[in-house]
Amino acid sequence: MVQVVELTPANDKQQSPSIKQKEQWNTTHARYISTLKMTSWGRALADNLRLTTVKFKTHVAPLSKSKNTTDKKTELFDETGVSLGWFDWVVCTVPNQQAVELMADSGFTKQAQICKPQMQACYTLMLGWDSIEQLPDILKSTATPIWDVAYVNDSPLDRIFIEHHKPAHGDLLPSITIHARNDWSQKNVDDDIETVKEKLLEAAQQALKWNSDTAPSQIDCHRWRYAATVNNNETDKELGILVDNSHQWIVSGDWCGQGNIESCYQMAADTVQAITATLN
Ligand SMILES: Cc1cc2nc3c(=O)[nH]c(=O)nc-3n(C[C@H](O)[C@H](O)[C@H](O)COP(=O)(O)OP(=O)(O)OC[C@H]3O[C@@H](n4cnc5c(N)ncnc54)[C@H](O)[C@@H]3O)c2cc1C
Repeated sequence: MVQVVELTPANDKQQSPSIKQKEQWNTTHARYISTLKMTSWGRALADNLRLTTVKFKTHVAPLSKSKNTTDKKTELFDETGVSLGWFDWVVCTVPNQQAVELMADSGFTKQAQICKPQMQACYTLMLGWDSIEQLPDILKSTATPIWDVAYVNDSPLDRIFIEHHKPAHGDLLPSITIHARNDWSQKNVDDDIETVKEKLLEAAQQALKWNSDTAPSQIDCHRWRYAATVNNNETDKELGILVDNSHQWIVSGDWCGQGNIESCYQMAADTVQAITATLN
């Protein structure tokens, strides 16, 4: 059972933050956690691919008009102009700003729609301690209430996840992941990463109240430039995948839905369906 709280940092440096129980994520609000790392599950899936070659660390170059298309097959190139082969279908799942660039001069029939969803950034702060004893009180197992995930109010921070509370993560050194708010991240997206790190650390210290003895020993800050799809309105219709049957190209990805992993699955399923429909 995952204990979720709402955490409001105190304005006064002497006071403790207010922590209120918000909800529990149980089997009815299930959350799935990949072990040993978040990437392990994706890697295990990829290991099962028998007829597919996965090329790592390869930047696909923008597609060009008809030059590299024949009989609906498309030749892809890497950035240095080396051919990556001929493909029956091209499925492009990069974030939409990057999809715009990849498809810009290709003659993709749905180009104008790619820009429709707006995407916002997310800064992530990862903090680690050398032992459980060095954790600030608020993160200790003796804290009340005990919590695993905190939604943060009145702060540049959005959510805090306690990593060593996750299943099969107990052997790891204590660590937490903090996501900054998307609107705050977007506003500061081009700032120097060290400046952003300092601002987020200050906010984290205000929220978690560590002192010189309980300060984190490992600090890392990461910028995800295209992280979240903005839903301006609850009734905004999802874009859905963009299929160009004339070229056999599909632009897909989580941002074609609501920008989360559920949308990622849904768009992948829709993509497979669009391809198999042409085979029947
Ligand atoms: C900070 C953050 C934390 C998250 N945490 C979680 C979590 O804990 N649990 C969860 O379920 N979901 C989480 N998500 C959501 C999840 O990561 C996404 O929903 C999912 O990764 C979307 O998959 P995708 O295939 O649509 O796009 P992406 O994962 O964005 O994949 C696009 C890929 O295209 C590659 N690419 C870009 N340009 C090129 C090019 N020219 N050539 C070749 N490759 C290129 C990129 O490198 C990238 O690997 C998180 C997202 C963010 C931003």
